[in-house]
Amino acid sequence: MFTDRDLKSKLSSIDGRGYKAYKSIAGMYRFPHFQLFIDHVQSDPFAPPSRIRVRVPQDMAGFPGHLFKNYHRRAALQDYLTRQFARSISVISQGKTGSGKSGIISIDRCGQEILERTAMVVNDRFVEARLAIGLPARGRTIMAKEAISIFFDQMSEIVSRSLYYKNLHQKQLQRHIELVEDQAYLQSKLLEQGLVAFVANGSILPRESGVSDKPLTGKNVIPFRAPKSLEVTFELPNNGRVTGMGIPKGVTLIVGGGYHGKSTLLRAIERGVYHHIPGDGREFVVTVPDAVKIRAEDGRSVQGVNISGFINNLPFQQDTEKFSTENASGSTSQAANIVEALEVGTSLLLLDEDTSATNFMIRDGRMQKLVSKEQEPITPFIDRVRELYDKYAVSSILVVGGSGDYFTVADCVIKMENYTVKDVTKEAKEIAAQSMDTRRREVSNEFSITRRIFNPAGFKLNNRDKVKARGLYQIQYGRKDINLHYVEQLVDDSQTNAIAEIIRYAAKHYFNGKLTLAEVVDSVLNDIKQFGLDVISPFKGQHPGNLALPRKHEICSAINRMRGVETL
Ligand code: ADP
Ligand code: MG
Repeated sequence: MFTDRDLKSKLSSIDGRGYKAYKSIAGMYRFPHFQLFIDHVQSDPFAPPSRIRVRVPQDMAGFPGHLFKNYHRRAALQDYLTRQFARSISVISQGKTGSGKSGIISIDRCGQEILERTAMVVNDRFVEARLAIGLPARGRTIMAKEAISIFFDQMSEIVSRSLYYKNLHQKQLQRHIELVEDQAYLQSKLLEQGLVAFVANGSILPRESGVSDKPLTGKNVIPFRAPKSLEVTFELPNNGRVTGMGIPKGVTLIVGGGYHGKSTLLRAIERGVYHHIPGDGREFVVTVPDAVKIRAEDGRSVQGVNISGFINNLPFQQDTEKFSTENASGSTSQAANIVEALEVGTSLLLLDEDTSATNFMIRDGRMQKLVSKEQEPITPFIDRVRELYDKYAVSSILVVGGSGDYFTVADCVIKMENYTVKDVTKEAKEIAAQSMDTRRREVSNEFSITRRIFNPAGFKLNNRDKVKARGLYQIQYGRKDINLHYVEQLVDDSQTNAIAEIIRYAAKHYFNGKLTLAEVVDSVLNDIKQFGLDVISPFKGQHPGNLALPRKHEICSAINRMRGVETL
C-alpha cells in the first residue's frame, strides 16, 4: 500500500499532462484517517467517472456492534451512512471544476425506500463507501491541484463527517435502525396474525405528485385512521405499540366514489413490501413481502405461460396452456401477469380497476345472456379469485368502484369516503343477499400453474454484447431490450442495474435448460445471500457501487418481458 504522500507526488508529477497519465494513480493509499482505493481510472473526462472506495477501519470508525448485529440492522445502518455520505458530498464538494465530469463526487442515490445496496459496506473490520469521482481536467489536460484538493481536502472532510461514528447524529441513526427493525418485525408477524397488510393510524398515504414519491403536505392531507372493526395493535421491539387497520387474508375489496383515495391506499399497500425512511408517512404501512401488483399491459411479450385458467378457445386454436405472443392484449397480458406471479410464489395479488382490463375483471349477467360462454375465451377474475384463495392460499386486494358483483366473492369490503376508511362488509353482504344475482359463475376447467423452463440459448451473449440498464424502466441485454414501465413495484434505478446483472449472472451460472425460472432466480438470490450483492458484479477488482437488491418478483418480471427468448 502506498501513502498519501505518494499520491500527492504522483499527481504533482502528471500535472498538465494528457488525461491518460491519470492511469498511473490506480492503487491503494493509506491516509491518516482512511484508506483510499482507486480501483478504476476513467479513460477520459467524459467517460463514466473513476471508481473509488474509501475505507475506515472499525478501530477508528467506532461503530458499536449492536448497530449491525443482524441483517436488517446492517442494511439500515448502511442505508443511513449512504444518505449521510451524500449529504456530506453536497455540503463539501465543490462540484464540477473542469470538462466533462471533472470534480464531481457521487455516491448511489437513495429514495424513500430502504434497500440493501453495494454503495456502503459495514462489517466487523471496516466501513467502506463506494464512489464515483470525475478526475479533473481542463479539456483533456490533467488538473493536479484540483485532484489534490479532492483527495486531500474534500474527501477527508466528507469521510470524517460520514464514516466516523463519533461525528454522526447518533440518536437519529439509532432511530433509523430501530425503525427498520420494527418494520421487519411487523412484516414477519402479518401472516401469523391472519393478515396480509397493515396500515398504521396516522400514516400519510398520498404522495406529493405523480412524479414525486415524497409525502403530500399541507392542511388538506388526511392522515389514515382505521375503522374500529378492523383495528389491530402490535407491540414493536423498539417503538412501543402501533395501532392501525389489519387487512385480513382472503378477498378484500376497496370501494368508494371516484377521487376518494382508493388507488392511493392500494399504492401504499403495494409499496409496503419495502421499508420506508423516517418521515415518509408510510413507515408502518406494511405488506407481506411477496405481494404482487397486477395490471393490464397490452403490447408486452409473453413466453409459454399457461393462461388457460383465464383464457381458453382463442381464435385459430391458439395454445393457451403454453401461450406465447409478441403483442398481448389487455386481458391476456393481465392473465399472464397473474400466472407468472403465482409461478414465482405470492400470497397476495393487488389489482386496481384503473389499470385493469374490464373484460378480464367482470362479465355481468346481461352480457352472459347476450354472448354465450362458448363465444367468450375469458374466464373473468371474479370467477377465479375465491379459488385462488381456497386452493392456493393467495389473497387478493382489489379496487373496484364499478362492480357490485364482486360483493358475492369478497370476505371484506372497505369503503373510502373523503379519504377516510369504513368497514362496509356487512352492508355489502346484505345487498348481495337481497338483490337477485343475475350472473352465473362460469368456469370450464381447473386452475393450474405451470413452472416454465427457459431455453438457455436465448440468454447467450456475444463478446461485444452490452448489458446495461437505462434508468428505472429499461434494460438492454445484448441485442434485446426489456421494457419495465409497467412493473410497478420496481422503485430504484439501482435495482434495475442489479436486475440486468442478475440476468447476466444467471445466464452464466444457472440457466441450463433444467432449472425452472423460479429455481434459477432462487439460486442467484441464494448466492447473493451467501456472498453479498457484490457477487453479481461483472467488474473484477472494481467495486459495483450502484446495485440495490430487487425482489425475486421484479427479477422474474424482467426475464418474462424479454423478447426473443423461449421456454422449453
Ligand atoms: P380514487 O382511486 O378513489 O379515484 P385516488 O386514490 O386516485 O382516488 O386519489 C385522488 C386524489 O386524492 C389524489 O390526487 C390523491 O393524491 C389525493 N388523496 C388521496 N388520499 C388522500 C388523503 N388521505 N389526503 C389528501 N389527499 C388525498
Ligand atoms: Mg383510482
